[in-house]
Amino acid sequence: MNIIHRGQWKYKEWTLEGNSVAGVSTSLICPELSVAFDVGQGLPWAFNMQNFLITHSHMDHAAGIPYIISQKALTGQRAPVFYMPKFMTEKMHQIVHLWQEMEGHVYDYKFISTVEGEKIPLKGNTFFKTFPTTHRVPSNGYCVFRESKKLRADLQGCDRQEILDKKSRGEQVEDFFEEPLIAFTGDTQIEFLDGPEFVRRAKILVMEVTYIDDKKSVESAREWGHIHFEELIPRLEQLENERVVLMHLSARYSRKQFEKEIIRRVSPEWAQKLVVFPRDPRP
Ligand SMILES: [Zn+2]
Repeated sequence: MNIIHRGQWKYKEWTLEGNSVAGVSTSLICPELSVAFDVGQGLPWAFNMQNFLITHSHMDHAAGIPYIISQKALTGQRAPVFYMPKFMTEKMHQIVHLWQEMEGHVYDYKFISTVEGEKIPLKGNTFFKTFPTTHRVPSNGYCVFRESKKLRADLQGCDRQEILDKKSRGEQVEDFFEEPLIAFTGDTQIEFLDGPEFVRRAKILVMEVTYIDDKKSVESAREWGHIHFEELIPRLEQLENERVVLMHLSARYSRKQFEKEIIRRVSPEWAQKLVVFPRDPRP
């Protein structure tokens, strides 16, 4: 594969665009949320995003950070913000400082170390939280939420003036809801599913599955910090996601092969919910 194909998948009001092949490149964007999940080698679809959520420091997920910073500077865009595991923040600063020197430019950018459980605002009424993943280097996944509010249940049907009076006295008259929209794992072993329940409840769960048959064993997938499809099958009943998007498939398989395997191994209901992210123009 010489040119990295820009795949696209849509569900309800969200689009996921980009590419993900194990060991080659992973970068998906959701334009509606102006968020990029990992940046691969710094691929063009991510140039106009504002927030970059980096799962871990492997080159095929994070090498493009300096390039995106440079492209943003070149086109006079606002300073991009990159969130990443603490382990890599200082090292990335060093890389970018060196590159600044070599390019003879001053870059404007922000690196922020992730903190588990912290709620970070994004566009409009959306925000994200991280969740733990297990890989060969420090890593975390990201879940984007939508916050919505509704009149407190016990105030439904009350007089409008009465509600306004309560509000002006500083009383909270609304209940707040956090709705998990998209969870993205990056590279990980299957145990991320034992973490916070919002991951299993997100409308869309984007997760890695690298191997699908016995050419690679579950043990060797685990040894490299990855997931074998075999491990996901018994876990499906735990999941409340509307769609589970599978990415990071090894280049040794085609999408069609994986789709056949899904149909052969899971119930028709689950076959409908599992989506293999379209990473190349072939079916
Ligand atoms: Zn990795």
